[in-house]
Amino acid sequence: MKKKIAIIGSGIAGLTIANLFKANSNFEIMVYEKEKILSLEEGYGIQLAPNSISILNKIGFLNINNNNLFNPLVLNFYSGDDKKICNLDLSNFNSEKIKYTTLRRSTLIEFLKSNLFANNIRFGKEIKKVSKIKEKLLINFKDNTNDLVDYIVVSDGVFSNTKSVIENKNNNPSYSGSIAIRTLLQSTQDFIYEEKSISLIMLKNAHIVIYPVNKDRKLNIVTIIRQKLKTNIDARALIQKEILSQNKNLENLFKGNLESWPIYTSKKPSKSIYENLFYLGDAFYTFHPTMAQGASQSIEAAYELFNLLSKDSKAVQNLYFKKRLEKTKLINSRSKLNYFSFHLSNPLMVKARNFLLKKITKKEKFLNKYLGSIYKTI
Ligand SMILES: Cc1cc2nc3c(=O)[nH]c(=O)nc-3n(C[C@H](O)[C@H](O)[C@H](O)COP(=O)(O)OP(=O)(O)OC[C@H]3O[C@@H](n4cnc5c(N)ncnc54)[C@H](O)[C@@H]3O)c2cc1C
Repeated sequence: MKKKIAIIGSGIAGLTIANLFKANSNFEIMVYEKEKILSLEEGYGIQLAPNSISILNKIGFLNINNNNLFNPLVLNFYSGDDKKICNLDLSNFNSEKIKYTTLRRSTLIEFLKSNLFANNIRFGKEIKKVSKIKEKLLINFKDNTNDLVDYIVVSDGVFSNTKSVIENKNNNPSYSGSIAIRTLLQSTQDFIYEEKSISLIMLKNAHIVIYPVNKDRKLNIVTIIRQKLKTNIDARALIQKEILSQNKNLENLFKGNLESWPIYTSKKPSKSIYENLFYLGDAFYTFHPTMAQGASQSIEAAYELFNLLSKDSKAVQNLYFKKRLEKTKLINSRSKLNYFSFHLSNPLMVKARNFLLKKITKKEKFLNKYLGSIYKTI
């Protein structure tokens, strides 16, 4: 008999695992999404490293319209006064069909959705209660419907309300101490950075990441600023105070609409009280964005969980958790180091960082350890 899986949340994590299981006739999937429709608003751009592209290729990503993607070959580091410090060759991690990719989140969501049938997703669904009935899990939804399933995958994002309901305890993430401000820019002749690369501009207590999200010269700009948590963020005033005060030339980047949000990260990875319930993506662990691995890890974890469940391995919960914990620790340590070094203000420390960056970006052995261990394809 087919095993039934309920997937809670239709973000990158939920839709990826739904796509993987869809091709396996031993499973029946249903995605339950809280919202009334799939959010295809532009959203921010995302970077997908080879570790996630290799998995997406298994579900048809190579067929996506190439104009809606970009494959940056280089990451350029700049100091706050626009001086290029050095570059990192991203193409070292690429192979013929598996390339570091940047795109809009909506492009990825649309692709993942297009492979599913309309009857694989139900909208306006939120879990009220989960209870164990013999080997199965009974889900009661807030609209008084229910579903009896073999497995539940919870992928409802950073605030995971489902987790709080199921585990019956407070699992709130913590404020990371920084705010993200995002805008889109049509590249112009005035653009002073290399438009076909990823640019990372390091300032005092802030950094800016710029990259193309398609072949149409549309650039995604994300600025991360250290800041106390506020209920109302005036993004333009913040850019003026924390960024343009350091470098007036950056003004051209921020002429469009600015969107802002506080960044939250998880306190620890999540493991359920139920053997057959798994947390995936940001609901498992939300990273700080300085390694740009949140989406890639959601995809990688989806593939790991899919493989474990497909093989009907014993102790899936423990195997899945152990592997994820290792990866989470690895990325977390690098994210924290990046966050610290991108935001230095002491001129001596800045000088030392720039000197070190120039050295290590050319050291193959170091790069293979620092990035290669994360970008490694499955
Ligand atoms: C500034 C910033 C930049 C980033 N840049 C990158 C990057 O360059 N590269 C990268 O890899 N990652 C990046 N990330 C991280 C990445 O976007 C996330 O890690 C990824 O989107 C997580 O996907 P998810 O499916 O777990 O969650 P989400 O995408 O948040 O999806 C959760 C889904 O669950 C639904 N939902 C919520 N509550 C419920 C409920 N109670 N019941 C049912 N459904 C529910 C939501 O509506 C949503 O559809 C960035 C993050 C930030 C903040």
